[in-house]
Amino acid sequence: MSTPESPTAYDELSQIRQETDRCMKCGNCMAVCPVYATEKVEAGVTRAKIAVAEAVLSGDLALDDPKVYRMLFDCLVCKSCAANCPTRVNFGRIMLALRAALVRKNGLPWLKKAIFSTLRHPRLFDVGMKAGAVFNGLAFRGVKAKAAIAPRSPFAWAGGTIGFDGERLFPELAVKPLRDRVPEVISVPDAKFKVAFFTGDSLNYFYPDAGADVIEVLTANGVEVHIPKGQSCCGIPVLVHGDVETARALARNNLDVFEKCGAEYIITGCGSCGGAWQHDFKEVLADDPVYGPKAAYWAERTYDISTFLTEVVHFRKPTGRVEASVTYHDSCHLKKSMGVFREPREILGSIPGITFKEMAKPDACCGSGGSYVLTHYETASSIGKRKVEDINRTGAEIVSTGCPACMMQLLDNVNRFGTGQQTRHYISLLAEAYRNEKAAS
Ligand code: SF4
Ligand code: SF4
Repeated sequence: MSTPESPTAYDELSQIRQETDRCMKCGNCMAVCPVYATEKVEAGVTRAKIAVAEAVLSGDLALDDPKVYRMLFDCLVCKSCAANCPTRVNFGRIMLALRAALVRKNGLPWLKKAIFSTLRHPRLFDVGMKAGAVFNGLAFRGVKAKAAIAPRSPFAWAGGTIGFDGERLFPELAVKPLRDRVPEVISVPDAKFKVAFFTGDSLNYFYPDAGADVIEVLTANGVEVHIPKGQSCCGIPVLVHGDVETARALARNNLDVFEKCGAEYIITGCGSCGGAWQHDFKEVLADDPVYGPKAAYWAERTYDISTFLTEVVHFRKPTGRVEASVTYHDSCHLKKSMGVFREPREILGSIPGITFKEMAKPDACCGSGGSYVLTHYETASSIGKRKVEDINRTGAEIVSTGCPACMMQLLDNVNRFGTGQQTRHYISLLAEAYRNEKAAS
């Protein structure tokens, strides 16, 4: 455990020894690693990656050796191995610390550097995303029946090797993102709680309707909602690429912005964002005497919307019906980082009309891994195909989940391997039930 005086594993690689030393090479991780299940080579599994980390620590292998580099990025950082490890090796910490050390040694590739630097400037990033929404018709065509877009030729042809073929579905970028659609404070009479909603970039730009559903459900339960405009990305997309300094800058900005709004709790609707507030801000800022304690304070006050509704607010059960058969995919970060899996099922189970159908291995990774799906499209699709086969066997019409990144991966993979299921955030089904209740009264 690092103290304010000692460097974190993200600054000093030797700090990961306390994790690597705990690995007894038992191989339990083989049963759950989605990369190993697909590639079937020992080098893909956690214990082999830990052996490589040990060789790097002892100086037997260079961090930028091409074999090490390949191993370093052929991992979804899905936390499945840690959840199944008898000695609780925090493999995510090992992997991210290795990637951070690689960036310290060689710097970031120019493209990543350019993209990540815009994240440090939320206004500039916002302008870029809105411009992307206006002009994406040049590179993408709308697929109305699926509420999605797909690459047009010749982009589809040029991007075929990374999965940007004409079949690849993406959610549409919103011309008017969520934070532009709602005021900064949404008051309710006699508010029971005052919370701040961390929208994250995915709910803001790609799934603003699901983000609006989070707000609608909170206010329907007597909760005042603040949506601070100055919030930035949670930093996970840059942290997984080893850019610790940008992750720290984003965490500090978010801590400042949310502290100022005066809310009691922070609510998230994304497993990666919630995991960042509960764990990663604390980890990357552990040696920061000012922001480290702030990160620890807010970590205790951050809830996924489902946990907040079931454990804090004790949400009102809807009387409106949603007639549908629904299954639920456990996002890796929501279940393995935030420990949330019963709560979304409790919410779905409270909605009249829903027939819930549990799939086999609901917590098996869907293959997204944030940007992993962009850099390892073939492996990600094989992982996604297994997930969709489990979904198909349930016969459910809707696959729900609690993470926008999983929604994106499921959208594409259901299109390729599924039977026409819809992909929805579980909170949208509760919001729909409340709306149906109002319409019927
Ligand atoms: S399950 Fe844990 S202890 Fe066993 S090999 Fe994998 S990482 Fe090591
Ligand atoms: S984090 Fe996931 S993909 Fe990476 S080694 Fe562990 S189980 Fe495999």
